[in-house]
Amino acid sequence: MNTDELRERLRFLNDIGIKELRLPPVAMAPPTKIDILPSLSPDGDTLARISADIGDCTRCKLHAGRNKIVFGSGNENARLVFVGEGPGADEDAQGFPFVGRAGQLLTQMIDGTASKEGIPIRRSDTYICNVVKCRPPENRTPEPDEMAICGEFLFRQLMTIKPKAICALGSTAAKAVLGTKDGVMKLRGNWHKWRDIPVMVTYHPSYLLRPYNQNAKREAWEDLKKVLHYVYD
Ligand code: SF4
Repeated sequence: MNTDELRERLRFLNDIGIKELRLPPVAMAPPTKIDILPSLSPDGDTLARISADIGDCTRCKLHAGRNKIVFGSGNENARLVFVGEGPGADEDAQGFPFVGRAGQLLTQMIDGTASKEGIPIRRSDTYICNVVKCRPPENRTPEPDEMAICGEFLFRQLMTIKPKAICALGSTAAKAVLGTKDGVMKLRGNWHKWRDIPVMVTYHPSYLLRPYNQNAKREAWEDLKKVLHYVYD
């Protein structure tokens, strides 16, 4: 690893909230390969190259239970990227993000809000991906080591697309993108930043599907309205 690559990797670790590195005692240091991931920002990176680098990935333990890697989908030149947590059962079966009930709600939210606000876009004009590309068992929250490893691919996707704004759906996405421990309720409704890109945090659609979350639903629509107007006005 050269100096630039080391600097980039440290910046990435800082982005995901790892502020301090403790080196293992020499006797415990891994004897073999340290760099298990390709460079964080290869020149001329593309989504196709990132997908190829992921390959038949076994870099974290989530590979064991997956059917399909869910890389992401949508417009490669999108001005808006939605980031979710990880694939669920439907996504794992089909290989595409947000295709289950939560995905249908997300589609309704994007298409419905855009149309109501007179903004001529649909879900397919945006790009959608997750922090981890393989389904966690029993839909549990991805663990920090899984997020740290797979998050590198997410960051490459974001660096490649360079959207005008990012919308983080739920606490896990917010944590991965902003490196914060704060929850959605504290973060939502205001702009944050990942590198130079504005980030809006809002509720994950699966949370909004719960019947007692009417208030959250209204707030999520407000957040989305703010994002759509910022990006497309
Ligand atoms: S979640 Fe990401 S890092 Fe882990 S096995 Fe799947 S593609 Fe690889």
